[in-house]
Amino acid sequence: MDLFQSFVQNDRQRHLIEKAAKLADVAKTRRDQADEMADFSTDTLQEFKKEQYFSLSLPTSLGGEGLSVYELLLLQERLAVGDGATALSVGWHMGVVMELGEKNDWDPDVFSSFAKEIKEKQKVVNRAASERATGSPTRGGRPETTATKQADGSYLVTGRKTFTTMASVLDFYLVSTYVEEIEAVGWFLIEKDVEGLSVEKTWDTLGMRGTGSHDLVMENVHVPRKHFVEVAGSSRPIPKGWLLHIPACYLGIAIAARNDAIEFAKNFQPNSLNTPISEVAHVQQKIGEMDLKLLAARHFMYAVADKWDKNPELRAKMGSELAAVKITATNAASEVVDLAMKIVGGRGLSKEMPFEKYYRDIRAGLHNPPMEDMVILQLAKQALSEN
Ligand SMILES: Cc1cc2nc3c(=O)[nH]c(=O)nc-3n(C[C@H](O)[C@H](O)[C@H](O)COP(=O)(O)OP(=O)(O)OC[C@H]3O[C@@H](n4cnc5c(N)ncnc54)[C@H](O)[C@@H]3O)c2cc1C
Repeated sequence: MDLFQSFVQNDRQRHLIEKAAKLADVAKTRRDQADEMADFSTDTLQEFKKEQYFSLSLPTSLGGEGLSVYELLLLQERLAVGDGATALSVGWHMGVVMELGEKNDWDPDVFSSFAKEIKEKQKVVNRAASERATGSPTRGGRPETTATKQADGSYLVTGRKTFTTMASVLDFYLVSTYVEEIEAVGWFLIEKDVEGLSVEKTWDTLGMRGTGSHDLVMENVHVPRKHFVEVAGSSRPIPKGWLLHIPACYLGIAIAARNDAIEFAKNFQPNSLNTPISEVAHVQQKIGEMDLKLLAARHFMYAVADKWDKNPELRAKMGSELAAVKITATNAASEVVDLAMKIVGGRGLSKEMPFEKYYRDIRAGLHNPPMEDMVILQLAKQALSEN
C-alpha cells in the first residue's frame, strides 16, 4: 500500500505531493540542527521560497494556486514525514493565507499589497495570539497586548505574545490586541524590523523545537491605521477548515515513525532468532495496529476535508467534525509513535535514532487547538441539544 498515493485524486495533487516530498527531504537534512537550536532553519526557509511554496495557498486571482483544504493536508502530511516542526510552522502560514484569501474582508489595497509581497517575495506570515495570561486564545481570554489610538489615527501596540511559531523568520506578524478605543479585540498587521518590535528567544521545549515559537515583544510599536485589519467578532464566526493542517502534520510524523519502525523490523535480527524481528508475531501485531490506527484517522480526516471543500454551504455546521478530526488524529498519531517505539525497543530512546524526536514532537499536538476537553464538551452539548 502506497501511503500517499492512496489519497491522491488527480494529477495536480500528484504534482503537489512531489513538491512536498522534495521539500520534506530538504527539511529532514536540517531537522536535527533545528531541533538542537530550537529555531526554524533559515536554510530550509530559503528552499521553500525557491520552490514558490508560500504563495500556493493564495487565490489564483492573486497569483497563487488556490489550494483546497484537502490539498493542504496532502502537503502537510508529506512534509511532516521529513520534519514535523517544519510542517507545523509552514502550515500556519499556508492556512492563514488561505483563510484571508477566502474571507476577503481586509481593506482591498492592504490585502492586495500583502498578497503581492507573498507572491513576488515569498514573504511569510503567522498569527500571534497566545499570551501567558490568556493561555490558548480558544478559551476566550482578552489579550493583555493593547493598541492605543494616536491623534493622527495610527496606533501604538504594546505587549508580549508567547508561542509565536517561526517568530525569528517571519516577515509579517498578525497580532491580536485589545483596542482600547473600541473596547474590542482587533488584529494588526505588523511588519518585521519595525521600531519597538523584537523576538525574545524563549523557546526551549521538549518537542516541536524546530518551530522556533519564541516570544514576540512589542513596545510602543507604531502601526498605521490601515494595518488595523480585523475586529474580532465583527462577522459571524465560521469554522476554520484550514486548521486541519495540524492533524495532518501529526499524522505525517506518525507515518515517519511507522515507516522507520518497519524498516528497522525488517533489518534487525538479534542472535536469539534466525529471522529478522518482522517475522515475530508480536511485532506483526504492532505493525498491523499502527496501520489500523493510521487508516481510520486518515480516512476520517480526508473525508471531512473533502466534505468541506465540496460543500461550502455546509461549512458553518462543520465545527464539531473538524474538531473531532484533530483529536482523533493527534491521539492516533501519538499511539502509532508509541507502537513504533515498542517495536524498536530501547534503541529508540537514543538520539542516534529518530524515534525519540518523533515521540517528543508528537506530544505537542495535545497543545495545539482545539483542546481535547473543549471538543468533548462541544460534542456532548450538541448531542444533548439534538436528542
Ligand atoms: C508547537 C506549538 C506551536 C504553537 N504556535 C502558535 C502560534 O503560532 N501562534 C499562537 O498564537 N499560538 C501558538 N501556540 C499556542 C497554542 O495555541 C496555545 O495557546 C498554547 O499551547 C497554550 O494552550 P494550553 O491549553 O496548553 O495552555 P493554557 O490555555 O494556558 O491552559 C493550561 C491549563 O489550564 C486549562 N484551562 C485554561 N483556561 C481554561 C478555561 N477557560 N476553562 C477550562 N480550562 C482551562 C487547560 O485545559 C490546561 O489544562 C502553539 C503551541 C504549540 C505547542
